Amino acid sequence: MEQVVIIGSGCAGWTAALYTARANLNPVVVTGMMPGGLLTTTSIVENFPGWPEGIDGTDLMIKLQQQAERFGTKVKFGSTVDSVDLSNRPFKLTIGKEEIETQTLIIATGAGHRHLGLDSEKALDGKGVTYCATCDGALPMFRDKPLVVVGGGDSACEEAMYLTRFGSKVHLIHRRDELRASKIMAERALANEKIEPVWDSVVTEILDVNEGKVTGVKVKNVKTDEETVIDCAGVFVAIGHVPNTQLFKGVIDMDENGYIHRREGSKTNVEGVYVAGDCSDHVYRQAITAAGMGCAAAIDAERFLASLD
Ligand code: NAP
Repeated sequence: MEQVVIIGSGCAGWTAALYTARANLNPVVVTGMMPGGLLTTTSIVENFPGWPEGIDGTDLMIKLQQQAERFGTKVKFGSTVDSVDLSNRPFKLTIGKEEIETQTLIIATGAGHRHLGLDSEKALDGKGVTYCATCDGALPMFRDKPLVVVGGGDSACEEAMYLTRFGSKVHLIHRRDELRASKIMAERALANEKIEPVWDSVVTEILDVNEGKVTGVKVKNVKTDEETVIDCAGVFVAIGHVPNTQLFKGVIDMDENGYIHRREGSKTNVEGVYVAGDCSDHVYRQAITAAGMGCAAAIDAERFLASLD
């Protein structure tokens, strides 16, 4: 039986692993299908303390993983937990045919990309519609073509700036007339000559399903109701995230958007189950705050296990 299982391998998961490993608890990390989490889809991370020149998102996650492994963390790469039974301790988790029992569980499942919810978005996913500029921006289909980024946050600005390396022009479509992004990001994006903001506008349809690849977007101005078409070869959706908490619905308390409730530090409503990072945080959502919460969850789990002794 395990002492600690951590589900998720973003900043929260690896930090929880580091701390529980250094407490000699031999944690197991179940990485999920995307080891390293969302930060691996970011290019340069400039706001993680300790990296004055910035660090590539994937490099940062590899370093966190190596640091956790150095102290004895066991890693289940590319595995996802299919079901959990948290009704009694030890808790039971299933990963395919394997069942793991554990005294404590740390949920650090992060968040996934929010979708626009259009049928055409679904139909053209991977055919010009994407959620990750660093993953897909360099593809030949986007080279020297006009591109669209949807969103007004840091992600949208970052994606738009990154895409100026490849596209002939980047239309940044935002539903309001002011960016949500941090000042520095917003200023950088708006100062870039290749980025053209399209204010007060929403994408109502992605064209052209019939051709099987994106040729443009239909855009509606929310103030005037005027509809226009913007030609483009790619649509990069960057409108925020939804917590990856489906697995715990009905068992772990969460809000109406699926963010897990934290009480007294990292505790959930189930004794012995702790939570950290973006799956429980819609306020700060930073790599460093997720890491801090991972640390807190590890300490809470360790103290709980000590109390059992
Ligand atoms: P976000 O801050 O939640 O921004 C989401 C954006 O999408 C908002 O502008 C929002 O519009 C818009 N939006 C939401 N739903 C929409 C819909 N259905 N249709 C059209 N637009 C929609 O998300 P994010 O940009 O992914 O950032 C998440 C967190 O990560 C933030 O804390 C951010 O600071 C951080 N981050 C940091 C960096 C960095 O520092 N390098 C990079 C990326 C992200 P409204 O503004 O009208 O709500």
